[in-house]
Amino acid sequence: MNFEDNRAFAEAQDQRDSLREFRSKFKFPVDRNGFSPVYMCGNSLGLQPELAAQYVHEELQKWADFAVDGHFHANRPWLSFHRQTTEGFATLTGSKHIEVVAMNTLTVNLHLLMASFYRPTDSRFKILIEAKAFPSDRFAVASQIRMHGFNPDEGVVEWASADESGYLDHNDLAALLEREGDAIALLLLPGVQYYTGQVLDMAEICRLGRNAGCKVGLDLAHAIGNVELHLNQWAPDFAAWCTYKYLNAGPGAIAGAFVHESHCSPENLNQLHGWWGHDEKTRFKMRASFEPAAGAELWQMSNPPILSLAPVVASLELFQEAGLPRLIQKSRSLTGYLAWLLEKRFNESIDTLTPADERGCQLSLIVRDKSIEAKALFDKLCAMNVTGDWREPDVIRIAPAPLYNNFSDAFEFAERLEIALTQL
Ligand SMILES: *Cc1c(COP(=O)(O)O)cnc(C)c1O
Repeated sequence: MNFEDNRAFAEAQDQRDSLREFRSKFKFPVDRNGFSPVYMCGNSLGLQPELAAQYVHEELQKWADFAVDGHFHANRPWLSFHRQTTEGFATLTGSKHIEVVAMNTLTVNLHLLMASFYRPTDSRFKILIEAKAFPSDRFAVASQIRMHGFNPDEGVVEWASADESGYLDHNDLAALLEREGDAIALLLLPGVQYYTGQVLDMAEICRLGRNAGCKVGLDLAHAIGNVELHLNQWAPDFAAWCTYKYLNAGPGAIAGAFVHESHCSPENLNQLHGWWGHDEKTRFKMRASFEPAAGAELWQMSNPPILSLAPVVASLELFQEAGLPRLIQKSRSLTGYLAWLLEKRFNESIDTLTPADERGCQLSLIVRDKSIEAKALFDKLCAMNVTGDWREPDVIRIAPAPLYNNFSDAFEFAERLEIALTQL
């Protein structure tokens, strides 16, 4: 596409955008210091869909009107409420229905899935992560290693970038597995690296891990709703994601998990069990014996928090309506436009860490001009009601979400960045 650096061009793109009506289905933050919001923080917390408030309210009303009967009666009975997310999760992750389930929160799910898939032996006890892994993933992995009686200092293997850019080269991963693969029990890697925004080659990661005899788990926190996923085909052993980033389901909303169909046979009883992993048909007979549910639902433990699940249902409905292929197409041109504007206007002072041909919607900006204090620049942007996020030591992450951001937001971001730079 031939981009132009002017507001009229951005507005014309917005007019032509077939997803433009979705913007009005979201609540944008209030004005600040006379500035309308430029919200580009969907990588951290997506905006509130109006439908989310409606769905939460419906559940409160159901509770008020029917009390315990809400489990079995009315629209969306609580007993099977989690299944309202099955279709949406399966579509977004390229999975079969049997492979996905909504439950818990992300780090909890990583632990539960590692309880099943991290089964270390004396000769194969290591877990491979990337060197700049999200702290929660690193803590989870180190504590799993410790819980199994091994030393995390020896047990954590890191796939690192060869240079300052943070870029992860898959050839380095292959070499690492060639060298140490026999000692590695599990690869736990992200779909999108949260700091640089690099989209990893998940198919290749699964292939390399499998060939080295390791289990593979993917953390899709920054990938779901952002990039195309084909989990059933790529066949990681498991995956997990949160729903409050690009999926816009609200702070701490219920997360999702994937277990590959090859592990979904009920004879394979290697989970931590609770009554919600029991076959629903006989669950309320309250017998002492455990009859496993089919598929990923077997990993469920408790009856789910309906009020935190209702926004997930709302969110997935919007994604189903918009369609991921259309969203990704818009995302490419929208982030492409933003990257082009930044390059054109600020190429002397600001660089982008995110590789242009391996990215979703996020751009990680780094201030190259050492005479500019990056944190002061970020604070100026905040004062002008631009929401991105700051990552120590010197990165500003911005992520135009194709469901509610538009080309005018991208243009306005560039305008305010220019003002902020002149005011420093
Ligand atoms: C956002 C994120 C988390 C957050 O974990 P919670 O359990 O939802 O608090 C963990 N890991 C990664 C990679 C993330 O991006």
